[in-house]
Amino acid sequence: MAGKGMLIIISGPSGAGKGTVCRALLEQDDKLVLSVSKTTRSPRAGEQDGVNYNFVSKEVFLKAVADGDFLEHACVYGEYYGTPRSSLEQMLAFGNDVILEIDTQGALKVKNSGVNCVFIFLLPPSADELFRRITRRGTESVESLRRRMASARGELSMASMYDYVVVNDCVDEARDSIAAVIRAERCRVHRNMDLIEAIIEEAKE
Ligand code: 5GP
Repeated sequence: MAGKGMLIIISGPSGAGKGTVCRALLEQDDKLVLSVSKTTRSPRAGEQDGVNYNFVSKEVFLKAVADGDFLEHACVYGEYYGTPRSSLEQMLAFGNDVILEIDTQGALKVKNSGVNCVFIFLLPPSADELFRRITRRGTESVESLRRRMASARGELSMASMYDYVVVNDCVDEARDSIAAVIRAERCRVHRNMDLIEAIIEEAKE
């Protein structure tokens, strides 16, 4: 996954507030963009095709898998989700830093593929609060709520493979913590070799 930009993976259980925190991050940082995943799940009220997800049929999704179109894909709560490779490469080549809001299975696949990423895990402040948030959304069936709570436990057990953990008790604070991580990561030497070499070159003249 070559390009000038940086890949940032944000995971966390359903109800951790990934969507809200990611929107807050994008509002304050022009260099950041969000990768729009493809999914086979149905749109929720208010969700737009091409904005929240690209909503596709199972046939279209599986064809894209067979064609190698995804950087990673996973089955979450019985539906498929995947990160399209080509749009990601374009955004990185353009110099954007790209956020992938994906589950822990997908994050693990990206990690094992050796792609250089920053891995951030968003934690709810407590299990009680997580349950309150999942039920408050009101968009899920009882079966879906049960599945989301069960899967939250699995997601939480994967937090240790991430580079950073951020607690989302207050959205502004969680946003600021992630923004601080991104800022520090942008300063890493290996991301700035071109700049260092250009200055060395200039200094020779
Ligand atoms: P939701 O249905 O609530 O939008 O998302 C369900 C879960 O799927 C969330 O944990 C979300 O982060 C994850 N997800 C969304 N897009 C992708 C993707 O492209 N790949 C993977 N592996 N997970 C995704």
